[in-house]
Amino acid sequence: MPPIDYKNVFVQPITNIIFPNAVQLHVLRLDKLHPIVSGNKWFKLKHQLQDAIVKKNTSVATFGGAYSNHIVATAYACKMVGLQSIGIIRGDELKQLNNTLLTAKKYGMDLHFVTRALYDDKQLIQQTFNSKNCYWINEGGYSVLGADGVKEMYQWIDKSFTHIVSAVGTGTMMAGLIKGALPHQKVVGISVLKGHNNWQSEVENLLGQAEKSKQFELISDYHFGGYAKHPKALINWMNGLYQNHNLPTDIIYTSKLLYGIFDLIKQNHFPPNSKIMAIHSGGLQGNLSLPQGTFVFD
Ligand SMILES: *Cc1c(COP(=O)(O)O)cnc(C)c1O
Repeated sequence: MPPIDYKNVFVQPITNIIFPNAVQLHVLRLDKLHPIVSGNKWFKLKHQLQDAIVKKNTSVATFGGAYSNHIVATAYACKMVGLQSIGIIRGDELKQLNNTLLTAKKYGMDLHFVTRALYDDKQLIQQTFNSKNCYWINEGGYSVLGADGVKEMYQWIDKSFTHIVSAVGTGTMMAGLIKGALPHQKVVGISVLKGHNNWQSEVENLLGQAEKSKQFELISDYHFGGYAKHPKALINWMNGLYQNHNLPTDIIYTSKLLYGIFDLIKQNHFPPNSKIMAIHSGGLQGNLSLPQGTFVFD
């Protein structure tokens, strides 16, 4: 499988601010991985695409909302490895393709729009769209193979880090970070969903028995009203973050992650001398759905 090369990924120390309790913050800039398959999506997809190829499938089908980073990443990654791709998109009301879907289509994804009611019935969808050479990938790449790929992120995270903090949607990335963590390292997930009550089983279903007793916690105070909600206060904070620390973030995941980390540090959530690695999981393409000029960065 043609690899994506990782040469543009780097670890950015946040030096322009002195945090209380000698806490240190670094950011793993996976947004630099690739312009289209950015952030965590490549790691979640790679073993699943490999599996599809090994099992002699010729196409991959998956699910997502109209702004899904996973849909775009799957479209591109499939094209790169020579698989056809099918995207089942939530909601049939869309009159015009947005930037995310246009990009997916450009990379050859066959898009099917389904009502929200049908979207919730994944089994019926699979029966409707199935063909024998089709490999199904869950929404957001949720699977054990997906979580296994995320362990690769530890090539940039050495043992001096005490806390690994990531945004949480399906929990696949968080599960992979838990799998790869050392005993003294704690994985902290910041949920972008409102009322994310079933997170623990979602994460633990991807873990082995011994991994379930590793150190991890979920924080759910930073969803800003719910999935993809982006009040003006958040947009302003994102622009400030860029101006002060040269760190661009997206409205759905990484802005809420970084906001949460700064706030948690202020509230002494992390013990003195903690060394935190925040995972910048990409997703910047989602900002293109906002009017031009919203951000001081692109
Ligand atoms: C998809 C995505 C996530 C969520 O990852 P999960 O594994 O579903 O929890 C986080 N950040 C970005 C930028 C994403 O695109």
